[in-house]
Amino acid sequence: MFQPGEVQVQKFGGSSMATPERILKVAERVAEQVRAGRRIVLVVSAMGDTTDELLALMARISHDPPLREVDQLAATGEIVSVSVTAAALTRVGVKAKSFIAPTLGIRTDDRFGSAEITAFERLGELATFVREGGVPVVAGYQGVTPHGDFTTLGRGGSDITAVALARDLGQKLCEKFTDEDGVYSADPRLVPTARKVWHLDYREMDALARYGNGILHPRAIAYAREAGIRIHVRSSFTREEGSVVGPDGDSRHLVKSLAVDRKQAVVTVEGLRHRPDTSEAPTAWVVALPFSPTAWEWRTFDGITGSLRVGFRLGEAFQALPALWELAAEHQAEEVRFASTPAVISIVGCGLEANPELVPRLLRPLQAIGIHPWLVDHRGVRLTLAVSRDGANEAIELLHRTILSL
Ligand code: ASP
Ligand code: MG
Repeated sequence: MFQPGEVQVQKFGGSSMATPERILKVAERVAEQVRAGRRIVLVVSAMGDTTDELLALMARISHDPPLREVDQLAATGEIVSVSVTAAALTRVGVKAKSFIAPTLGIRTDDRFGSAEITAFERLGELATFVREGGVPVVAGYQGVTPHGDFTTLGRGGSDITAVALARDLGQKLCEKFTDEDGVYSADPRLVPTARKVWHLDYREMDALARYGNGILHPRAIAYAREAGIRIHVRSSFTREEGSVVGPDGDSRHLVKSLAVDRKQAVVTVEGLRHRPDTSEAPTAWVVALPFSPTAWEWRTFDGITGSLRVGFRLGEAFQALPALWELAAEHQAEEVRFASTPAVISIVGCGLEANPELVPRLLRPLQAIGIHPWLVDHRGVRLTLAVSRDGANEAIELLHRTILSL
């Protein structure tokens, strides 16, 4: 379609588009590049918190709205932003046109709320517009079924649209402009000494994205990985270079970053002693539970006290809890209770896989000041710890200091 590097796919998120002033700034920035001879394809999200507001509106109408209707509504957010962005570009002298899902034929399956893009059926029309010197402004996050219903790809899904479009346009780079100027060793709002991480590999970014760093959508990372596309995450407010996610990463920095997920809940089932139909030790049967609830993020089991801890996302409580109740009833547990929601801290870096001795080096300083994580889950490039809310900030700071010293 195009040679690599011939067009640039640039995605602007909701915060970059929150006000008319910001949209005009984006337009100026694009105009500058167009005047310098670049060909640009824009993908944009809904303005500011529009999607949250639309979903909140629906929640006031019904607790159980038809998913199709939720998507017809949610898709309007991006329809607003592409129209005004195309008009802003026109105002600053750039030939531009908006493309929503039906215009571009962004075909998806009909899984409302988490649809999968299967094709951009009218990509040829977009390409022609680019060749004529135009800047297409594509609505992120949305698609359309073969019946013509709007779908959405899941929250934060404009990233997916951008990477899929870069791929189908034959590109090896996709730029994501956001309000953060890259990926840091920790959230700079929490840890002021955090430093920028210039290069991450796909696995590192995927682990961070899944464990609390919301910078990129995991599915966009998966698409990028399959197609060998680099994603440059950079600020829409400054010209600075950001962080590049790609196949190579940076093996000199063993540990890249720490992410905190505060949206997990923990339930403890106490006094799980005997499985009625077996003499097996409790540890064995908890590991071999007859069901494997995918909603459970992790679990730990203390075979001596019979205490099982299960962590899951707050948003998945309805899926995660029934299995726990079933287990508690079947084994006559003494008590089921919500532990206070913990802070789940994940430390990510290629070095954790290559040098497992880093794990005790990261943990020792915590233990030395009396912080004993409830959970230590080391898998591949990720080490996840759950600590109680009270000790969380101290733990984060100490872990970050250790990371910088490695
Ligand atoms: N506007 C959508 C959302 O807020 C998609 C996106 O921002 O990428 O989830
Ligand atoms: Mg948004």
